[in-house]
Amino acid sequence: MIELPETYVLSEQITHTLVGKTIREATAAAKPHGFAWYTGDPALYNGKLAGRTVTASNPGTGYTCGGNTEIVCEDMLLVLSTPIKYHAPGEKPPKTHQLLLAFTDGSHMSCTVQMWGAMFCFPAGENGLPESFAARKCPAPYEDAFDEAYFESLLSGLKPTLSAKAFLATEQRIPGFGNGVLQDVLWNARVHPKRKLETLSDAHMEALFNSVKTTLKEMRGGGGRDTERDLFGKAGGYRTILSSKTLAHPCPACGGGIIREAFLGGNIYFCPSCQQK
Ligand SMILES: [Zn+2]
Repeated sequence: MIELPETYVLSEQITHTLVGKTIREATAAAKPHGFAWYTGDPALYNGKLAGRTVTASNPGTGYTCGGNTEIVCEDMLLVLSTPIKYHAPGEKPPKTHQLLLAFTDGSHMSCTVQMWGAMFCFPAGENGLPESFAARKCPAPYEDAFDEAYFESLLSGLKPTLSAKAFLATEQRIPGFGNGVLQDVLWNARVHPKRKLETLSDAHMEALFNSVKTTLKEMRGGGGRDTERDLFGKAGGYRTILSSKTLAHPCPACGGGIIREAFLGGNIYFCPSCQQK
């Protein structure tokens, strides 16, 4: 899954690089993948896309909801949850791909599924998506509507024994907020990933809210995280505090060791002294 900051970076890069290009040919599912999802028969993608021009791109907030990159091709909308790569004219596209767009100027765009990935193609007009494809819309942390009151409303009805990780990064409570961005958000708030919601004070909750807003902003501002790659295959400029890249480094606050553990389907990283359980 591409997480929130990177979908914003990708959609900005697509807006600058692909808008105005006309699709010569679209190839979907050239290399079958058990966890690649399409809308209907992938063999029909060429008929839906060829001849259309890329007119816009949004992070997954224009028509859908967080954690996707949206590419508008006139009256068709691509909603992509996979990494997306651009190949300039003359550059060879990769041999393995689950979606390839060839443009009339000789450039390409490819999607390659990692663990799983959606490459949906919908008809979309001025009125948005047809009802059968409509998604639950909710504010993204980059929007003003994602305020403290909204953040607290996400807690309603949750079990008080739920962990901070489960609250923030599961069930798509905040679409596009995944295990990757979680680590620095929790470290900046000094909250342990396993910390139970019932033990968090008001001050903790405020720190968590502020960290969700500011940490995601820094990640986007840096051009994405240094563990991820952008449209041009370049690593992002945001230096992760806690990730596989920094595991061997001391905690930047206390100088102690960072710990990695498997928890809720993914590795968590934390500083046992700065982030108390
Ligand atoms: Zn520390």
